[in-house]
Amino acid sequence: MRTFSFRLISVLAIAALCMLTACRQRGSRAPEAALFDAPAEVAETAPAPFVPVFSAAAIPPEVEERMRGKSYPEGATIALSELCYLRLSYVDFDGEPQTGEMVCNAAIADDLLEIFQALYEAKYPICSILLVDDFGGSDDESMKADNTSCFNYRTVPLSKSLSRHAFGMAVDVNPLENPYINRSGIVMPAEGEPYVDRSRDFPHKITRDDLCCRLFLEHGFTWGGSWSDRKDYQHFEKR
Ligand SMILES: [Zn+2]
Repeated sequence: MRTFSFRLISVLAIAALCMLTACRQRGSRAPEAALFDAPAEVAETAPAPFVPVFSAAAIPPEVEERMRGKSYPEGATIALSELCYLRLSYVDFDGEPQTGEMVCNAAIADDLLEIFQALYEAKYPICSILLVDDFGGSDDESMKADNTSCFNYRTVPLSKSLSRHAFGMAVDVNPLENPYINRSGIVMPAEGEPYVDRSRDFPHKITRDDLCCRLFLEHGFTWGGSWSDRKDYQHFEKR
């Protein structure tokens, strides 16, 4: 009797162990199983081809919501109706096409659509094009992340006067490799220090002959890299 009970317990224990193992395996293989079970036409569908976008619109309500208290603080003297919301495709540092977003002054929207379309077609590498609001409205965080952006209601660094960015009339491109260097030699972002020496050759360096620079100049912008009292290699602005 004791032997029988022992055998019964052993059989039950082994059965329970098997069920547990089967459950675990099923659990861990769930994604694979789901793929296998998917209808043939879904599993075989190729990823949709990338469709580049270059569009300008009035600031949508959900974008306004993101901007308020960040790039568009209380008391900003520019009306939202003077600004435009752009969707811009670009080729990232990995050579992958992406679509970003930018807020600019309506007066330069057409310029930016043309410039960024030409950059996209030339596969000019841009790290990212996100609203500064994705960085809490912090220009420093946006620059540190090498993010290309335009509108931000803020002052010129270490000054009280409004920046051209506050009017959506200036664009910063790949700011990490193209830092701002003021009269006292302060580098912004600080992480851009390795890129201060412009005699050095490195990827994503904006020079006078660079396609990005040429396009902005052709559209009547000035380049911060050509200023004599300070250097702002990432910066293009229109008056
Ligand atoms: Zn700038």
